[in-house]
Amino acid sequence: MQNLLHNLNPEQLAAVTLPPQSALILAGAGSGKTRVLTTRIAWLIQTGQISPNGVLAVTFTNKSAKEMLTRLSAMLPINTRGMWIGTFHGLCNRLLRAHHRDAGLPQTFQILDSGDQLSFIKRLLKANNIDDEKYPAKNLMYFINSAKDQGLRAAAVDAYDDFNRKMVALYDLYDLQCQREGVVDFAELLLRTYELLSRNQPLREHYQSRFKHILIDEFQDTNDLQYKWLKLMAGTHAAVFAVGDDDQSIYAFRGANVGNMSAFEREFQVENLIKLEQNYRSHGHILDTANALIEHNSKRLGKNLRTDAGHGEPVRIFEASSDIQEAQWITEEAKNLIRDGSLRSEIAILYRSNAQSRVIEHALFTAGLPYRVYGGQRFFERAEIKHAIAYLQLMDNPHNDSAFLRVVNFPTRGIGARSIEQLQDAARQYNISLYAAVPYVAGKAGSSLASFVKLIEAARFETQNLPLPEMVQVVLDLSTLITHYQNEKEGADRIENLEQLVSAATLFVSEEGFGHDAPALTGPTSRPASSLIANDQGIEIIDADAALPTVMSPLSAFLSHASLEAGDNQAQAGQDALQLMTVHAAKGLEFDSVFIGGLEEGLFPHENSSQEESGVEEERRLMYVAITRARKRLYMTFSQTRMLHGQTRYNLRSRFFDEMPDASLKWLSPKVQPTWFGRTKSAWDDAPESGANQIAQGFSKTQTGSAWRIGENVSHAKFGEGVIVNIEGSGTNARAHINFGKFGMKLLDLGIAKLERM
Ligand code: ATP
Ligand code: MG
Repeated sequence: MQNLLHNLNPEQLAAVTLPPQSALILAGAGSGKTRVLTTRIAWLIQTGQISPNGVLAVTFTNKSAKEMLTRLSAMLPINTRGMWIGTFHGLCNRLLRAHHRDAGLPQTFQILDSGDQLSFIKRLLKANNIDDEKYPAKNLMYFINSAKDQGLRAAAVDAYDDFNRKMVALYDLYDLQCQREGVVDFAELLLRTYELLSRNQPLREHYQSRFKHILIDEFQDTNDLQYKWLKLMAGTHAAVFAVGDDDQSIYAFRGANVGNMSAFEREFQVENLIKLEQNYRSHGHILDTANALIEHNSKRLGKNLRTDAGHGEPVRIFEASSDIQEAQWITEEAKNLIRDGSLRSEIAILYRSNAQSRVIEHALFTAGLPYRVYGGQRFFERAEIKHAIAYLQLMDNPHNDSAFLRVVNFPTRGIGARSIEQLQDAARQYNISLYAAVPYVAGKAGSSLASFVKLIEAARFETQNLPLPEMVQVVLDLSTLITHYQNEKEGADRIENLEQLVSAATLFVSEEGFGHDAPALTGPTSRPASSLIANDQGIEIIDADAALPTVMSPLSAFLSHASLEAGDNQAQAGQDALQLMTVHAAKGLEFDSVFIGGLEEGLFPHENSSQEESGVEEERRLMYVAITRARKRLYMTFSQTRMLHGQTRYNLRSRFFDEMPDASLKWLSPKVQPTWFGRTKSAWDDAPESGANQIAQGFSKTQTGSAWRIGENVSHAKFGEGVIVNIEGSGTNARAHINFGKFGMKLLDLGIAKLERM
């Protein structure tokens, strides 16, 4: 039997082997919280205190759930497939699939990701003639999601004025429409499960007695509903093992409530509060930087981190003149690291906002470095993939109106806005889905619509006994999506992505273990109408594990996967690639080398948060998360200018630099206030911090008359039109890097080259 415990320090050992009572492990980044949690699961199983199916473990991302399962199978000779380890959303999806009737959902309910949800709401507003200036779709979406995150249905929301009453009414309408179409949003997955278990005593008691141990990672970022869900699942008997770090609470904007930690301590009568103070991840300079920074926050539970790893390399800071130069510098450094033997996947490039990734991606692409982007424009969010998925969704659940509208006329088949309007009228009149309303539309519109329905029915028929990947291939052919993109100028990429969808399905089938004899597409099953059956002994529960194989077709499972695990299949599996992601997405992960880009006032800390102290504290925690991802090398960069949302912005470097210890930092450029061509330094040094941004912008305007600016469009007699990318030196020594498009990048002496402003 493998000794699971020999690699643990005394505090970790104590935590892993706690008696079966609720416990809170409160500890800083890299102190082994996740490792302790995983080892505890293994230890509980190995010592026979629980069987693998008695464990419920909640992770923050799908990626960490997978990692946990891999680690467990390395520690124990058991098959971890099917263990209840996953995200809140993933676990709820599993429960709702199995008990869909009790939850009041159709067997093939489908999940709206946030993009789908927004278009769904826009459609809802339009269909009900609601003024979307007064009730913007995004606001309504936020309103609905935050109500759900608090566990509130429309009827329970307090509406204190006319505007709110209208929002509540729209929330109600939204829920009705979702129900009619058989779709659920992310928050609904949780709320529905919560309601199901609160209402249904036998089911609740069944799962309460099944899951004797509940373990939850990243506890600081649970929201109110997740906490309530947890209490319900735990009942009075389960031992809940929560691990978290208040300094890494970074999801307040999504309703996360760090107060859940103290509530947990109180309500679960936690006697075992363990702190871990030894950091195993980062070298000394990196850790000192993180510790010094987070000390500037006032509301902390207080804990320290130390390391035995030695100082290691200093944290390197680079000031770029433009975001393009920043990206090029990062690319060059990454290349050096790889040349020195680093794996590409051990290098992460982190940024505060998704918009920053484009320039970096471009630089990496030009340099021929493979990379993988997590989050952002994910594989399953790409338009062409959404189209293909919509066909599959309609085959699985034809009443999904969003899917219907997405592809009813894509590729174009002569179904115009007028026909859709007629169809929507009919659907409204009979209170049925668009698909079901097709027979009620007469004339030419009716027959075009009917042929679309025939197409879907044909696809269902032709694929009913096919394994999933072949099914996807048939749908790509029948839908004529591939042919459509073949005729499009930039369709090659899209076709490649569509082909990737077949590979994604293949991978999914092999990972999830759906054999070829898996249940056919859909259709009546022999399941009873409820997961509860009365028998001689009383009530018997059909557990999710027993029910799932009969209710979840490979297609349904794949479609849930597409909504829940967007992003996971983006780069080719197994390819060693640089890792690009937002700081939010990097939580819990670690890499040998980490770059954090865009450390500028307004970007990091973000301008939306920098007005209030609590906002800045959240940004600081985010920065703490970013820093503590690094094991050996950390680089921070900022840029004097940046193109964001189509505008060139002139920013000051982030205030966070002044909160980090000089002894741990190495400035690769002299530490001065940002400068650019033609500017006198003193005017800046006196600028008050909060107003600096505006002054910077004002300043650049006054300079445009006399000096060249980065970002400016110029024209040159020989090279034609170009854009100034970087300026070096000043006065008569000034030289500029100018991108002349087809002539490429040129370095010109500004005093000599006869440039003209455009
Ligand atoms: P975060 O707060 O970022 O989620 P964490 O507290 O969950 O971090 P882990 O990811 O569990 O920390 O551990 C950080 C690293 O330290 C991992 O590589 C882990 O394997 C290693 N580690 C943890 N404990 C020990 C130990 N006792 N001996 C050696 N390495 C350890
Ligand atoms: Mg962790």
